[in-house]
Amino acid sequence: MENLNMSELKAVASRCSQYSPMGGNQFTSSAGQNEESCSKCEHYENSKCTLDLIDQIKSNMQ
Ligand code: SF4
Repeated sequence: MENLNMSELKAVASRCSQYSPMGGNQFTSSAGQNEESCSKCEHYENSKCTLDLIDQIKSNMQ
């Protein structure tokens, strides 16, 4: 699978129903860094989605 850049990872995560931020505690920072991204998702390992949803979501985006 091709590597995705940060904006693609954000676009995918914002459309993903399985997005699950790592760490568990979703505290909102005052800096407003609350963006969704696959890189923050617990299903994202070794630059890919362990649920194999990235390709599906990407193809739905086109
Ligand atoms: S890593 Fe997978 S499960 Fe997580 S947001 Fe991205 S596509 Fe969805």
